[in-house]
Amino acid sequence: PGQIVHYPMEANRNTSDVNGLGTDIQQHFDNTHIIYDNSTDTTYLRGRLLGKGGFARCYEILNLNTNKIYAGKIISKTRISKPHQKQKILREVQLQKNLKHRHVVEFINYFEDDSNVYIILENCSRKSLVHVLKHRKYLTEPEVRYYLRQLVAGVEYIHSNQIIHRDLKLGNMLLNNEMDLKLADFGLATKVDFAGEKKMTVCGTPNYIAPEVLQKKGHSFEADIWAVGCIMYALLVGRPPFETTTLKETYLRITENNYSFPSSLTTAAKNLIRKCLHPEPTSRPLLQEILADEFFVCGYLPHSLSPTCCTAMPKFP
Ligand code: ADP
Repeated sequence: PGQIVHYPMEANRNTSDVNGLGTDIQQHFDNTHIIYDNSTDTTYLRGRLLGKGGFARCYEILNLNTNKIYAGKIISKTRISKPHQKQKILREVQLQKNLKHRHVVEFINYFEDDSNVYIILENCSRKSLVHVLKHRKYLTEPEVRYYLRQLVAGVEYIHSNQIIHRDLKLGNMLLNNEMDLKLADFGLATKVDFAGEKKMTVCGTPNYIAPEVLQKKGHSFEADIWAVGCIMYALLVGRPPFETTTLKETYLRITENNYSFPSSLTTAAKNLIRKCLHPEPTSRPLLQEILADEFFVCGYLPHSLSPTCCTAMPKFP
């Protein structure tokens, strides 16, 4: 094992930098957590913890064959002892495997050893918009245009692949080192098998659940548009539109379309949110219509965002 650690580190210092961790990767990876994928004969080192999810712990992972850094979702087999739990993970992998887009987290590899299953993904070193909002409380309109445009591009791509995400939320909008938004977590996603198909149930609890999903009336791609509206509201206001202290009360408000705007929001922002939160799914805007909306053309839309925006309010021209 010692051999493995010493060989690529010094030789390929610069290649590690494409992942934006700086050259001193030895600070991030020690040789005590070695992961071996015998299906591809690849050795990885486990680095710092990036986050915890329902099943998985996510770590920075260094591929010692290429010296590239990824994110590794590690799921202990003790936590997925029931066959349907494993099936759910395999379905998630199956859906994500063939997707390739600038605004969707890239799937790299899936393998198992005796203790864990591993999902290797593109590394998003700046975590998610949850983390941004924790520091910032709420965002400026130009920032919201920036993130929403990238979100819509990612959603447009997965919809064109007949996939409904069904759990779009701030925690599933990750940021890489360059502040590029990457759509993540296909745990509740589904594939539409024929035009016009309505899905009746979701196996899990979506965060920004649409009324038609809640009422089990049959739902489709429009459920993701609802979530885009909730995300836009949350980014501009600092809290989600239907938030209450209990899930029951929140669901009642969703069913009744009962939400209000703080006076700080501009008319253009309110109008677009209202369109996305239309109770009737077919009355919600198409993704292209969102991008063409007054909100996107009435003010500045940055083409790039400084990483300082993660913690401090930017000043725009
Ligand atoms: P689960 O499916 O068990 O809920 P998640 O997909 O939510 O697990 O991942 C848990 C956490 O790990 C996320 O909240 C996020 O902070 C982090 N994470 C997930 N994927 C990546 C990634 N590709 N790059 C960086 N961090 C990630």
